[in-house]
Amino acid sequence: MKRPFNFAPGPAMLPEPVLTRIQSELLDYQGLGFSILEAGHRGPQVAEIMRSLKARIRSLLKVPDNYDILFCQGGGRMQFSMVPMNLLGAGTLSTYIITGAWSKAAAKEALRFGRVQTAYSGSGTRAPANEELEVLPESSYCAYCDNETIHGVEFPATPMLTDAPDVPLVADMSSNFMTRPVDVSRFGLIWAAAQKNFGIAGLSIVILRRDLLGLATAEVPTLLNYGVYSRTESVPNTPPVFQLYVANLMAEWIENEGGLEKLNARALVRASQLYTVIAELPDTYVSHVAEGSRSRVNVVFRLRDEALTSVFVKEAAAAGFINLAGHRSVGGIRASMYNAMPIEGAVKLADFMRDFAVRHP
Ligand code: PMP
Repeated sequence: MKRPFNFAPGPAMLPEPVLTRIQSELLDYQGLGFSILEAGHRGPQVAEIMRSLKARIRSLLKVPDNYDILFCQGGGRMQFSMVPMNLLGAGTLSTYIITGAWSKAAAKEALRFGRVQTAYSGSGTRAPANEELEVLPESSYCAYCDNETIHGVEFPATPMLTDAPDVPLVADMSSNFMTRPVDVSRFGLIWAAAQKNFGIAGLSIVILRRDLLGLATAEVPTLLNYGVYSRTESVPNTPPVFQLYVANLMAEWIENEGGLEKLNARALVRASQLYTVIAELPDTYVSHVAEGSRSRVNVVFRLRDEALTSVFVKEAAAAGFINLAGHRSVGGIRASMYNAMPIEGAVKLADFMRDFAVRHP
């Protein structure tokens, strides 16, 4: 069966070796005679999956010993609440860097728990330079979105809070987690929903500096308290076993592919295919994202003739490139190319774009 190239923003493509492994193990997990879907969460198989997943994340991202790795449910948006609930502590002020829809939504949720200062507010076209960031030292943390999935804006490097270097930096890496090496020691907390680069929906990975555990006040619900996840080894109740299993297979696949440097190189090659065509054909395509902030994983662009947008999406799907419509809030085109997207997918989509431009002058 020839599978189409799936450019969905997440849930997204999984590597074929991961899918076939799931298939081959589904009825009989490693000789047990039953499926991992049926395994008890306190049994040795699930414990081993969680141990292995944590060790692989620690090794791939070089997570220092003073950081904990936690597994939560509730998707990305639950972290919009968990971050302020846990990190504000006795403080009342948090800071957000707004570069697009997801950081904006995170800042809005934080308003439920305290005051929010905006360190930078952009229109979804670029990441700010460090000098543009205004952060007060009394802020409990400063949160940003490392890659804005809807606007296609990615920070080229970890921001530096020069005015307030002791304020913990919090990153939403949902759409670029495990796509490039990261210096974890620069962060107070990194979190990511799994369903783009690291598996399937229903799991979020949280990496946090241990001194930030235990700040939650007594009113914070048990299952929204990072401290509880830390104390229980991320088994405060029945964990999302299948999601953890798939993430562990993804981590193993990433190791087999050569690790994060390799995946970053591949992401850069994929993205450059499309940005090159956009630059080549300015009469047909336009990107509103500033050079230097263009996402390696969500290439967002528009057709000069907006009426051609739906034609593009339809013709692309017929040619085997599916899910290219931009987010409903912004329209246009978005090609999401996460870890599982082969370079061939980007090369062939670039060819299609050249051909489309010729056919629709
Ligand atoms: N943050 C980012 C950067 C995202 O891309 C998304 C989902 N697309 C979310 C948060 C929200 O994730 P979820 O749908 O799992 O709540």
